[in-house]
Amino acid sequence: MVIGGGAMGAATARALTHAGARVTIVARRGTEGEGWRAAAGMLAAQVEAEPEDPIFALGVAGRAFYRREAELLREATGIDIGLEQTGILQVAFSEQRATAFKTKVAWQRQQAYRADWLEPDEVREGWPWLEPGVGAFSAAEDGSLDPVALVEALLADAVARGATLVDDLAVGLDRHGGALHGVIGTAGRYAADTVVIAGGAWSGRLDQLPRPLSVEPIRGQMAAFHWPRKAPPAVVYGERCYLLRRGDELIAGSTMEHAGFDVRTTTEGLAGLTERVAMLYPALRDATPLRTWAGLRPGTPDGLPIIGPEPRCAGLWYATGHGRNGILLAGITGERVAQAIGGEALPEKMTAFRPERFWDW
Ligand SMILES: Cc1cc2nc3c(=O)[nH]c(=O)nc-3n(C[C@H](O)[C@H](O)[C@H](O)COP(=O)(O)OP(=O)(O)OC[C@H]3O[C@@H](n4cnc5c(N)ncnc54)[C@H](O)[C@@H]3O)c2cc1C
Repeated sequence: MVIGGGAMGAATARALTHAGARVTIVARRGTEGEGWRAAAGMLAAQVEAEPEDPIFALGVAGRAFYRREAELLREATGIDIGLEQTGILQVAFSEQRATAFKTKVAWQRQQAYRADWLEPDEVREGWPWLEPGVGAFSAAEDGSLDPVALVEALLADAVARGATLVDDLAVGLDRHGGALHGVIGTAGRYAADTVVIAGGAWSGRLDQLPRPLSVEPIRGQMAAFHWPRKAPPAVVYGERCYLLRRGDELIAGSTMEHAGFDVRTTTEGLAGLTERVAMLYPALRDATPLRTWAGLRPGTPDGLPIIGPEPRCAGLWYATGHGRNGILLAGITGERVAQAIGGEALPEKMTAFRPERFWDW
């Protein structure tokens, strides 16, 4: 049983069906602020990573997962997940940032990843519509995909392989002490001996959790503009913002706010975002967005996801708390969780994500 049909739930359910499990997905679709509907879909494994960051290895594996699976998903479901291997550029607007990015090039190259420092002339030559700043970090292997198409494809493939998709809100676990019997929804009880919590920012709202789940919503506001005419697809980071192309639109993001489950956009939030994105693409300075929206990221206290079994309740698993990189990490998380449910040990590198790390009581 998988609770949640977003990025993590869909990926986990699909991986479980591929492993031969009988799967039910209890998914409340259309909740305002769903992460996967709001997300930009960047696969920023290298751009988002810092040295020693436990998420780096998982992110790189996550990126590789989509390269491997995009075509298989298209063949199985007819849905193109929009994988773009454009690379990602991260423009520096101060010497301090430039120094940090040059250091990043060095440590990533040391680990045999493609990373480059581009001088302003090189940025101007490749991206003439951009403000080149003092240069840019370039991760040629990073890219993007369409998160809505991804979730639809993962769910379609899971259902084609026998998963049952139930449109219901899971209100809690059906649990007596350490014994798990399934899930209680608004429309009924669902029996299962294995339950994966993949409810994104809402994961901690379930009744009968063995202990409070350290996941809180972090709001991100987004805006769409016209993509510059004739400019090829690109993904570009600036100062606390990014832009990318989806269809004919320029998608700009995003804020990081603790605003509870409020998914409204704010004048202040959007003005700040537009100002920051206009540092990259000055034509946006006085532009009016075509549309705006906001979504909720599932955030944890240490910024790392919660992946693995609950030691206090046999059969209960977590695949949540993926914060700002949950699209990048969904496919690989689903695969790893399905393998672990099937009896394989989680890789050593994933101990940093173990659920019990916040609770020493
Ligand atoms: C503005 C914004 C931009 C982002 N950009 C990127 C990006 O570029 N790259 C990237 O990698 N990540 C990005 N993210 C992060 C990414 O979207 C999330 O980390 C990811 O969606 C988390 O997946 P999830 O399945 O855990 O949660 P969600 O995608 O939010 O899905 C959870 C689903 O579970 C359902 N659900 C919840 N509780 C229940 C319940 N009790 N019963 C039934 N159903 C339930 C919800 O309705 C929802 O459909 C972005 C997020 C935001 C908000």
